[in-house]
Order: sequence, then C-alpha cells, then structure tokens
Amino acid sequence: MRFIPHGLTSRLLLTYLMLVLLSVGGLIVWTGVRLQAAIVEQQQHNLGIQAQLVANALRDALGDEPEKRDRVELQSLVDSYAQASESGVNGGRARVTIVDDHLRVLASSDQRVVPGREHNHTEFQAARSGYEEHEIRWDEYEKQDRLFVASPVQGEHDVTAFVQLSISTELLYDSVRQMWLGLGGVGGIILALTVVVSLVLANGIARPIQKLTRTSEAIANGELERRVAPEGPDEIERLGHSFNQMTERLQELITREKEFAGNAAHELRSPLTSLRLRLELVQNAARDNPIVTQKYLEQMESEVRHLQRVVDQLLALAELEEGAHVPRTDLDPAPLLYDLADELSPLVRESEVEMRVEVAVHLAPVHANPEQVRMAVRNLLENAFKYTPPRGTVVLSAVETSDSVEIAVSDTGVGIPSDALPHIFDRFYRVDTARRNHVSGSGLGLALAKMLVQANSGSISVESQPGKGSIFRIQLPQS
Ligand code: ADP
Repeated sequence: MRFIPHGLTSRLLLTYLMLVLLSVGGLIVWTGVRLQAAIVEQQQHNLGIQAQLVANALRDALGDEPEKRDRVELQSLVDSYAQASESGVNGGRARVTIVDDHLRVLASSDQRVVPGREHNHTEFQAARSGYEEHEIRWDEYEKQDRLFVASPVQGEHDVTAFVQLSISTELLYDSVRQMWLGLGGVGGIILALTVVVSLVLANGIARPIQKLTRTSEAIANGELERRVAPEGPDEIERLGHSFNQMTERLQELITREKEFAGNAAHELRSPLTSLRLRLELVQNAARDNPIVTQKYLEQMESEVRHLQRVVDQLLALAELEEGAHVPRTDLDPAPLLYDLADELSPLVRESEVEMRVEVAVHLAPVHANPEQVRMAVRNLLENAFKYTPPRGTVVLSAVETSDSVEIAVSDTGVGIPSDALPHIFDRFYRVDTARRNHVSGSGLGLALAKMLVQANSGSISVESQPGKGSIFRIQLPQS
C-alpha cells in the first residue's frame, strides 16, 4: 500500500477525511441530484403558467375571426409580454410566439421567426389535446438548446390559437449551477472544519505516542532516569503509567545488577588478596620454617574453601535466576530432614551446640525438588550453628499445617537486630556484628535459601530477638 502514509497523524487524518468525504460527499450528491430535478421541474412549471397567463390575456386580441386580427397590435402585445418576462420568475427573457390553429406563426417577439411559417411541434400537439408538455430542443434561430411549452387560446367555441413560450436552457442550467456551487461551498467548509478537528484529534492520539517513542529511544541510549508524563486517551495514558513502572523496574534491576557484580567482586577479592599475601609469605619469610609454613597453608586452605563456597553459591543463584526447570516430586520431608541432621553431626560436635530434631516420622508429602529443599534447610542449620555460642541449642522441627508443611530451624544464638531483619534475605547482606567478629560468611546463604524455597512455591520467614535467638520457618505447600 504505497499510497497510505506511514505516520500515525497522517493516517488518522486520512481516515477521518475519507469518512467525512464519503458521508458528507454522498449526502451532498444525493441532495444535489434531488434539488436539480426540483429546480428543472419548477422552471418548467413556471414557464407553463406564464404561457397560460399570456394565452388568457391574448384571448380578446385574437378573437374568433382570424381576418379581423390586428397584426400590429398582436406584435406589440407579444413584444410587451416578452419584455415583461425578462424580470419574471425565470430570471431571463422568454420568446413569445403566437401560432394560429393551423400552427402557422402569427407574431413572435423574435423578429427572425418568420410569420406564416408552420410550426408543428410536440408542445402544440399536446396543447391541442388539452395537456401541457415541455420539450428541450435545438433552436434554429438562436442556435442553442431551448425549453418550449405551449398553451391554447380558447375562443368562444374552439381553440383559436396557441401561445408558445421558450427560454434558453442556459437559464435552467444557471440555477442548477448556482445550486451545485452552493452545495460545493458548504461541502468545502465542512471539509476544512474536518481537517482542523481531525488534526486536533489525531494529534491528541499521536503526540503522547510520539513522546513515548522518543523517551524509550532515550532510555535505550542509556538515559535510564527518563520518564514520560502520562497523557492522552485512557489507554495511552495507562500505557504511559505502565511504561514508567517498567522503566523504574528496569532501572532497579540494572542498579541491582551493578551492585551485585560489585559485591561479588569484593567478596572474591578479599580472600584472593589474603591468599596472595600468604603465598608471598610462604615463598619468602616462611620458606625455611615448616611450622609457620604449615600454619599459612592451613589458612590458605580455609580461604580456598571459602572461595569455593562463594563461587558455588553464586553459581547456584545464577542457575535459579535463569529459572531452569528442576524436576519436582511428591516427597516426604521427614527422612530428608533426619538425613540432613545426621550429615551435620560433625558441626554439632565442633560447635558444642546441642541439636534437637523434632520431626514427626511421617509428614504429608510436599511437591518439591529434594535437593533444593535440602540445600535451603542446610543453609539455615549452618547459620544456626554459626551464630549460636557454645552450650546453646538448635532445634530442627517440622509440622503439618492445614495445607502446607512447616519446617523450622530455631536457635538460642545471638539473634538479629530488628533494623537488619528486612534485609536479611538480600544478597551479600551481613549483619555488622557478624562482619566485625570475622564470622566467616558471604551474605549469600539466606538469599539462596529464599530463592530455593520460592522455586518450590514455598515461602520463608524469620523471627528474632537479639541476644535470645532466632527462628526461621519454611512453608512448603502439600502435594
Ligand atoms: P552469611 O554467609 O553471612 O551467614 P547469610 O545470608 O546466611 O550470610 O546470612 C546473612 C546474615 O544474617 C548473617 O551475616 C548474619 O548476620 C545473619 N544471620 C543469619 N542467620 C542467623 C542466625 N541464625 N542467627 C543470627 N544471625 C543470623
């Protein structure tokens, strides 16, 4: 469609114009055709009435006896009627011709019409038979199309003569032309108004969209802080609002992404730096001292383990973020939790913290991925041991609620300050005391636990009292 413009404004404008052209144009043509017919009919009717009036007026002058007729008087009468018709209804001069009952010309307002000549035309035949007929035909004297009509002059007993009136069809066409011009003018005004109104309407729709386009182009070019002022019709205004929300979200995501990359780099840099320093020490100062070397190597191993853990956690997070499909099964959480408790027994011994497992032998099955549930609970348990001083207690419990299974890990540890609670599940977030006390960790364990639980349609929550302990709860929907 090469002829359809590409711009929205032009397209809307074209649509409005086409609609108005079709409807108003159709209406104008229809009205014009009807008016034209009415005008022509009216003119013919007027000419017929004039012919009748002249015929009536000439009744006496023509009389019943042809030989007594005064040709000069007739001529002057005919001339004066023709003159009178000039300002008449038809707005132009008519030709008045009188013919006798044998249709021979007696007198005519046009000198070129030869007296005595026979004029045998349709309108006379009709007038003789008592009705009126109009005819448009070529006139040999004026060399133009004219409209003719005739009316009989009634004598005492019989028709004594006929009066023929004719006018140039130019007069007819003139009125018709005037009428069409008038209608055309009205059409033109409507069209001009339509253009103005359409432009306003089309702009009202197109302008907000153009603004939206410009803003999204700017955003694509990196101006992330740009927003649109929502305006225009409801739908476009809504689009503006959701566009702003989307951009807001995008900006947040990008900021988070940047923060994440920064945090990750930072989290990897400190163990790497300490590894490098110790390597140097081993190479130089401690080379000849096996005891010191051994000590540094142990420290290095611990750093490497920490690094390994951070990288594993980052990879797990990235995988979860990708949303890759992991298979879920109907799973009884009890054996999984007992197994996990066994697995962590070295930790129990190491930390001198008592662990109690309060899990019913059988629980309602949950629909979840066993590995992911295991990893989430394991993270909670490891934290509980890490943040609980010796002689404390960690309890792993699980109960059935109406439609889910709740797994809880509670401890009698250091607890979490209330201002830290809202951030506890953020990536790389660590409570300051944990940082200060050099408790090993990366701030990724809880973020990972939350994502793992959510990937299994579950939820995670925490309650804590500083100095008294914390309790983490995982709710998993029953199968
Ligand atoms: P980290 O590797 O530092 O343990 P997490 O994401 O597992 O990272 O935990 C984030 C922070 O939440 C920790 O730094 C710690 O301050 C706090 N925290 C987590 N679990 C507990 C707990 N059971 N008791 C007290 N504080 C906790």
